[in-house]
Amino acid sequence: MMNAKLAAKSELNSTTIVNISHTLAVGGEEIVVIAGPCAVESREQMQTVAAKLSTAPIQALRGGVFKPRTSPYAFQGMGEEGLRILQEVRSQYHLPVVTEVMAISQIELIAQYVDVLQVGSRNMQNFDLLKALGSIDKPVLLKRGLAATIEEFVMAAEYILSHGNPQVILCERGIRSFDTYTRNVLDLGAVAALKQITHLPVIVDPSHALGKRELVVPLAKAAIACGADGLIIECHPEPEKSISDARQALSLEAMMELAHSLEAVATAVGRKIHKNTGVGSVNESTPIDWPKNYGMLKNETLPITI
Ligand code: PEP
Ligand code: MN
Repeated sequence: MMNAKLAAKSELNSTTIVNISHTLAVGGEEIVVIAGPCAVESREQMQTVAAKLSTAPIQALRGGVFKPRTSPYAFQGMGEEGLRILQEVRSQYHLPVVTEVMAISQIELIAQYVDVLQVGSRNMQNFDLLKALGSIDKPVLLKRGLAATIEEFVMAAEYILSHGNPQVILCERGIRSFDTYTRNVLDLGAVAALKQITHLPVIVDPSHALGKRELVVPLAKAAIACGADGLIIECHPEPEKSISDARQALSLEAMMELAHSLEAVATAVGRKIHKNTGVGSVNESTPIDWPKNYGMLKNETLPITI
């Protein structure tokens, strides 16, 4: 195993809490639920999503505006117009927003509009992108590569950390296997392992892992039960009409019901679901919360391997 100087746990119980806003953090006692469509499709769509989800224990919105599609002929996302829509619902509903960054050239633009920059599976080992994200002062949600080992995943996070950004959130989203019944195989073993070997927050995306909406709810609960710090889930006002990933999208009602049902699971494992505080929960500038052991690890070579 390689030496993950910054990502590896230095002490048994060291954890990093990443601040998404002044009042929302991931990696602590509270579970964070991020929900929204695969892609931002229109202003009306995001208004409907935000108006509904803001009334449930859901603390942040997602929506892709630069989409990594298998086919170059498929919808590629709304681009900057989509970012403006995200910004509008963000300030109107006081919910932080997460969106995917696919290229170095998009970082500056995206960082002006959103709270968390997501690196998609297909870019987990885009090392130049990871290095560039090391120099921003916003959290990075790093998704596990389609067929990445746990070690490769941790070392991808190490790229961002070692280039100066300590605000990394890991996301398990399923890995490729032989069975096509589910889109991917949700590796909850990796969640437990990552919580043991790294100090970083770990969240789970059951939507891309399962690929079928009827399987998202049980696996979302299982993720919280096995120690995940949060979830990122796709939902849509009219799921079957989603431009991308329609088969896995929950209805907004199902999403809200799921968020409520997670409270019991969180309690069972000694966690809570973050309570939305409404006005004031989004900052204009997101503060940096340096990991407890970051300064030390930055300057020392510890004999820690994963
Ligand atoms: C997404 O979040 O919409 C996405 C494309 O996810 P992944 O990179 O995990 O496939
Ligand atoms: Mn998607």
